[in-house]
Amino acid sequence: MSEGFTYSRETIWHITCRSCGFYWTYPTMNVKETPENRSWHCPLCGHKGTGQESPDLKDGHDSPS
Ligand SMILES: [Zn+2]
Repeated sequence: MSEGFTYSRETIWHITCRSCGFYWTYPTMNVKETPENRSWHCPLCGHKGTGQESPDLKDGHDSPS
């Protein structure tokens, strides 16, 4: 085995159901993969729909309010 370490970036998306408010996380190692416009299925209430960007993401970080 070589010395040292390897690393890679993991993105964890927070998916919030707009029907019941439940949220869960979706981790991915593919930085190009986004939740936008793919179909989702709420594990709590069964609501189905596509991903839409949260207003909190618009400026790149959580809003301070
Ligand atoms: Zn739901």
